[in-house]
Amino acid sequence: MSEHYERVKIELQQMKEVENEAAADGEQLSPASVSSIPAEVSFTARRDLSRSSVNGRSRSKSRSKADGHERQVNDKELPDPTAQKSNSSQGQSRVSNEPNLHIKGTARLLKGKTAANGHVETCVRQTDGKCEHHGKEDGSKAAKKRRAVTVDTSKAKTSLEALKMSIRQLKWKEFPIGRRTACDIYWHGVSFHDNENIVSGQVNKFPGMIEMLRKINLSRAVRTMQELFPEEYNFYPRSWILPEEYQLFSTQIRLLKDNDSTLKPTYIVKPDSGSQGDGIYLIRDPADLRVISGAQIKQAVVQDYIQKPLLIDKLKFDIRLYVLVRSLEPLEIYIAKEGLSRFCTEPYQEPSQKNLSHVFMHLTNYSLNVHSGNFVHSDSCSTGSKRTFSSILYRLASKGVDIKKVWSDIIALVIKTVIALVPELKVYYQADIPPGKPGPTCFQILGFDILLMKNLKPILLEVNANPSMRIEHEHEVSPGVFEYVPSPVDEEVKVGVIRDTLRLMDPAQRKQHATSNTGGGSPEEAIVVETGSDEKEGMADSLPSLCLKQVFPKYTKQFHYLRVVERIAAIFLRFLGVKGTMRLGPTSFRTFIRNCKLSNSSFSMASADILYIDITRRWAGMLPDSREAGMCLQAFIEAFFYLAARRFKALPLREQVVLLLEVCEGALEGQSHSEKPRTHRSHTHPNPASSQTSAATTFSSPALTRRRQRPLQLSAKANTEN
Ligand code: ADP
Repeated sequence: MSEHYERVKIELQQMKEVENEAAADGEQLSPASVSSIPAEVSFTARRDLSRSSVNGRSRSKSRSKADGHERQVNDKELPDPTAQKSNSSQGQSRVSNEPNLHIKGTARLLKGKTAANGHVETCVRQTDGKCEHHGKEDGSKAAKKRRAVTVDTSKAKTSLEALKMSIRQLKWKEFPIGRRTACDIYWHGVSFHDNENIVSGQVNKFPGMIEMLRKINLSRAVRTMQELFPEEYNFYPRSWILPEEYQLFSTQIRLLKDNDSTLKPTYIVKPDSGSQGDGIYLIRDPADLRVISGAQIKQAVVQDYIQKPLLIDKLKFDIRLYVLVRSLEPLEIYIAKEGLSRFCTEPYQEPSQKNLSHVFMHLTNYSLNVHSGNFVHSDSCSTGSKRTFSSILYRLASKGVDIKKVWSDIIALVIKTVIALVPELKVYYQADIPPGKPGPTCFQILGFDILLMKNLKPILLEVNANPSMRIEHEHEVSPGVFEYVPSPVDEEVKVGVIRDTLRLMDPAQRKQHATSNTGGGSPEEAIVVETGSDEKEGMADSLPSLCLKQVFPKYTKQFHYLRVVERIAAIFLRFLGVKGTMRLGPTSFRTFIRNCKLSNSSFSMASADILYIDITRRWAGMLPDSREAGMCLQAFIEAFFYLAARRFKALPLREQVVLLLEVCEGALEGQSHSEKPRTHRSHTHPNPASSQTSAATTFSSPALTRRRQRPLQLSAKANTEN
């Protein structure tokens, strides 16, 4: 082993020791040391994903050219699920002697422990918090004793193959065409609503996630957080929402250029519900915006283009990371220790008028670059146009980069982004599954797309509600004729993510998790018992250790203070009631003002009505698709900020908002003593007004003075309540 491999190995070992120590110390890591991956990185013989195994398993299935392999599955474009039939890779080990980074937990089952069909010969299930490891015979006896976990895969669509492999590895029971009685887990390919009328079990999608992750809504959610915590949320490029902020964008750019004529900023324009690079283009002047399409004004986000990305082999690349939101209440987030890096296929140059249209240089989407003549399908995880993220970390570590810091920054980015999404997700959740009504609980795997800047700062590009879980790619065997070929890199990463998500959602384990959470424990006290949590045991006896690493509530203490908007959402939900709506009516808004004791001589109920009407009307104009009338959460947040600024003048916005929250929560708490207690669902249900009062009241950063971009203009006339 070369000297520099040795050096990296030592460095990584040290990181692991640091993390172990931190774990022993109660996981109180400083944000700069919030790191997981490096601690899990070790050297193994490289699993060379050799061509021969690929060819041996290639399924010749001719079809005309359609969606790209990495095409994001969304509600608009779904490749036919039946078109992917395969018996790919069934746990075959591909080992060569070349050293490489190996992230534990993502690996296929260990050599000698995997039967030819990919099934595990030993069984690990959890009953009483300890992993039970059985030999082959013991395992089957134990399996007989316990009812296998049942999974409805009938709506899995393009995740089907990776899902089937995962279920086989876990020895669970698959229901490929659904089941008359309830299943434990429902795996949906697109949305929560793929199967209607599920009244129990767990679904792998949250209601509203697709909507929340459209580019405009994500930008809005992050922007709200940027207003409160600009420094903490500076990982998302400055964005403008089109068409409503077209004028603002034009004016700001003109001013910028007028002030400094040498500046040549570039902007990237992305259609709101686009994916896979569709419709994306770069501009250097607002006049180049293509705002109108036919008779319609296009909904899009335009944002600062990151001009200096980190390059490897002179190429721009991004990182796809898989993140599991295991529950909203309490909030539980896991990050996969392994991800994918997708490379451009034309050497990068900073944007110039000449190269603005070079998509293979500027856009890292697989679905685009796969059509470039330069795309390299590699069987190795560390070469080619799609690589594992650990291979990138390895490259960086070997150059002396502090990869632990890179990881801690990425983890922080992920936690902060999820915190920005949670308030509105809770509104969707309550609308679909009102407290007290039967319904499933939810979890979801998200695909985070992250760009590393030259200075190694991670930037959030977008979050995918339905990241591609396909483990094969199209191969053009003759012009226009394609066959599906297993993609070892994809399989390596994605099967681990699905399998370990299932392990974490094992009902037996969840039950225990719920038990461990009873007694009203705070998020900090929530103990998550991971199946196979003892890594050595897991590795030695059967399944690999989990490739998903809990980051929240693990790092609650560092990030809890950011959960301010969630507290506003809790108040919103409380006044929304449980009627399945997402909009607050004027009467409910009045009740909010009255119950929170917010009206006084300088802010009358008539002023409250005006406030309601002005804000609601403006938001209705910004959300043209909306069928429901009333005040949406974002509008309520804006009203809340306005009330906070009125009442606590001269303080930074964040302090104003927290102070107003205390006023409201105090008033509501007094009232709730005399009210009948609300019905509580299981611990995963986001009970609207529950537990929020414990959220942050501290200020950890310097006072911030930025205000909302759209100043309120109260209209002159008061409107009466309807
Ligand atoms: P899509 O959903 O269509 O893939 P993305 O937001 O992921 O849209 O953007 C597509 C690609 O464009 C990204 O993978 C990345 O390579 C590039 N990109 C997106 N936003 C930026 C940005 N702000 N700066 C630089 N490159 C970007």
